[in-house]
Parts: sequence; structure tokens; C-alpha cells
Amino acid sequence: MSKHAYLSASASARWIACTKSAKECENAADTPSEYAKLGSEAHTLCEHLVLKALGRDAADPTGSLEHYDAEMQYHAEDYCGFVMTKIAEAKKIGGDVFVGVEQRLDLSRWVPDGFGTGDCVIAADGLIHIIDFKYGTGVLVSAERNSQLMCYALGAVDTFDTLYRTDKIRLSIFQPRRENISSYEMSVSELLTWADEVLAPAAKLAYAGEGEYAAGEHCRFCAVKAFCKTRAEQNMELAKYEFADPAHLSDDDAAEILPSLDNLVSWANDVKDYALKQALAGTRYSGFKLAEGRSARKYTDETAAAKAVEAAGYEPYEKKLKGITAMTSELGKKRFNEILGGLVYKPPGKPILIPADDKRPEINIHTNDSISDQEEKI
Ligand code: SF4
Repeated sequence: MSKHAYLSASASARWIACTKSAKECENAADTPSEYAKLGSEAHTLCEHLVLKALGRDAADPTGSLEHYDAEMQYHAEDYCGFVMTKIAEAKKIGGDVFVGVEQRLDLSRWVPDGFGTGDCVIAADGLIHIIDFKYGTGVLVSAERNSQLMCYALGAVDTFDTLYRTDKIRLSIFQPRRENISSYEMSVSELLTWADEVLAPAAKLAYAGEGEYAAGEHCRFCAVKAFCKTRAEQNMELAKYEFADPAHLSDDDAAEILPSLDNLVSWANDVKDYALKQALAGTRYSGFKLAEGRSARKYTDETAAAKAVEAAGYEPYEKKLKGITAMTSELGKKRFNEILGGLVYKPPGKPILIPADDKRPEINIHTNDSISDQEEKI
């Protein structure tokens, strides 16, 4: 049986918003990126550690993980600790607790041929908790009304309906490399309303290859994002923006175009990457040619270079303090805090302009700590 459903839970945000994308992605060649392989291997390690912690059989996969390193081990252990804490909390509710690891969940009641695999599903009386591990760093993932997790929750509600009296759903994202743990709660009746009113109608259209193309943030996870006409048209619309004053961009003009810029930049980069791949495969673009990009000088033989520098009376190697993540992996979290807790601080991040409804607190530029002062400290 295929490991991925045609309408997968993980891609649900995309095919719910753009029902046409399901068929488009089905037809597009799917070569997993190195990032995807890294994420998949980190998941394998997480699964192993949680099963081991639960006292279940689990063969150590580390020998076969191409990208395995101390950082992966550290984050997977952290995830395992989080899961075990949540299991302990569920046990406090009383009654039997079910823990599913890499739990296959049937969504076919709402999504044709739909199924998904939940990283961890904890079912207890009154509560189903869905925990999803994200190893990526590119996008900060929120659990709030996250359609992927809501799909898993539906599958879990459907499966455990007769065993548990469930009225509450908790969704959690554990994204350690972004220091992000996001949780969201909703009632089962809210979940079922969404399933009937949003998920099922979109799934029906997407399964049949019907509905509309609709571009938006979800395009970044679409296999045809670089050459989709709807996405191109939406982004090119921005170029037609009519400015009131021909000489200067007013603050209102800037405020109007700011929300579109991230999508525009991401689309432009996708088109550039796609065109480069096509050019390398032989396509010629009028007015463009392939050339070598900038490159940095390198030693032809590092050992020989070091010997030559030593022979000349100089020190060829530099000693560098390990980074926080590598040091934490080396010492373990507890020892790290004991030894270095007082020697670690988090500098303020460089100011960025974000939408007003983003949850991050606003910087007060009217205090003595002005933005330029803050930039100085960085
Ligand atoms: S790129 Fe966007 S608009 Fe185009 S098919 Fe994919 S999701 Fe739909």
C-alpha cells in the first residue's frame, strides 16, 4: 500500500485552499529533497526513542541514517522527553491511556482514500492529544487550527470513538530547531463541524480534480509552484499596482504592498531556481546564458597546506568554542545548565517588520533602547 495518500493530511492546507493542486502535484515528478530526507530520518529516530522509552520493541536505526549526528540525537531525545511528559499528564486524568507511535489514521469518512500517520497520538478519557514533530527550520509552524493535525485528530476520534469518551482535542507541534512548541485546544464538535463544512467539500473537489486554482502562502508546498500560471498571475498583479504619487512611494502605498512581498520574493526565487534547472537541462532562455557563479579559493590538499604553514613557523589551525547546540549535545541539557547556565544569554533579534496580528511582541522604539541601540548590541 502507498505510504502517501493522494489527498494527504500533511498537504491538506494546500489542497483545501487550492483544490486543483491535488491533481497537479500528482502529475509532477516527486524527488525528495535532502531537507525532506533529513526530516524523515529525524522522525525515524524520534519513533525509535519513544518506542524504547515506552518499553516496546524498537531496533536502533542510527546505523542506517545518512544524516544522523549529535544534533539530531539531541533534538530527538528532547522530543521523546516532551512526549513522555504528555503521556504522564494524560495518565493523571485516570483510566487507560492509549499511546500510538507513527499511528496510521483513517480519514476516509471525510477524505476519499484519505489516511495519515500521526507521530504520536495519546488517547485518554475526555482528551485526544496529537503531537507532531517538525525538524524543519524554514517555516515556524503553528498548531492553531493546523489542518494537518486536525486531520489526524479526526482519524483518532473516529478510531477511538467507542473506547473513549472524548470531548476535547489538543494539537501540539514540537519544532525543536526553531525552539517552537505550539499547542492548541478545540472541542470535538468544533473539529467535526470543520470536517463537514470545510474538509469534506474540499476533498470531494480535489479528489475529482475540480474546483478552482487559488494562490497564496500554501503555494510554497506545491510541486508546480515555479510554473503555475495562477500563482504567476497573482504575483504579477503587484507590478500593476497604481501609485497615487508618481515620484514617491507613500507610507500608505508601502503598507498596501508589504503583505504581498514575502509571497512575491518566494515566487521569484522559485521561478529562478526552476529556470536554472531547465537551463542546465538544455533549455535556452532568450537574453540569458549559463555562466559560472562566484566561487571562493580552496586548498587543494588541507594536510599538505597545514604542514607547509607549520614548516614556515606558523600555526595553521584555529581553536573555536563549540556552538550552543553542539555543546548541549556534548554535555547533555542538565550538565550544560549546571556548567554554563550563567554564561548564556539570548541577544535581541534584529528588528524585522511583521504583520500586526503576529503574536510576537512589538518593539518599543520610543524607549531609551532605540532600534539603533538594539542593533549596536547585536
Ligand atoms: S502553485 Fe498555488 S495556485 Fe498553483 S496549483 Fe499550486 S497551490 Fe494552486
